[in-house]
Amino acid sequence: MRKYRVNEIFYSIQGEGAFAGTPAVFVRFSGCNLACPWCDTDHSHAVEMTHDELEDAVRALLKGREGAIVVLTGGEPALQLRDDEPLFQGLPSRICIETNGTLPVPTWVDWVTVSPKNGLSTIVPAPDELKFVFEPEHIPYYLSMEEERCEKSIQPLARKDGTTNLAEALDFVLAHPRFKLSVQLHKIIGVR
Ligand code: SF4
Repeated sequence: MRKYRVNEIFYSIQGEGAFAGTPAVFVRFSGCNLACPWCDTDHSHAVEMTHDELEDAVRALLKGREGAIVVLTGGEPALQLRDDEPLFQGLPSRICIETNGTLPVPTWVDWVTVSPKNGLSTIVPAPDELKFVFEPEHIPYYLSMEEERCEKSIQPLARKDGTTNLAEALDFVLAHPRFKLSVQLHKIIGVR
């Protein structure tokens, strides 16, 4: 039987992008096809779960929490999710995926957030949202996406030494108002 490699499942607040501030059940899948230097995901930790175990865990966290969304993230969730094995169908929650945009995403999700990394172009057609971790050397790429008809946000780069490039990201957004500033709200309020 096929199993998913899951890093963690938890209930918290979406801290980034278009749904910032929205209560959400997060499913963080293990493993990624990229290796970004600032990545804060522990790719070594994984629990193997069947389709039913994964669905049961999420349903349990959603119980009595109508209005919460489900966020499939990673790692890179598109490494494990497939069109022929839909998850969470029939749930009243919006099913969102956060992907680096280098792999096809399943068609059964409701909302696709692409966060291109390292200046790599996305192969995902018509995402609902583009979220860029701000790296000044990739500004030409951000500007090439400026006319895309979707939500677009710029998120300051959080370095491992605790500093960020918030000031530069803010300057960029103020100069290019089609982008919003996305700060990591969950870190500011001290939750996961
Ligand atoms: S794409 Fe995301 S999960 Fe993958 S290495 Fe980069 S920051 Fe980490």
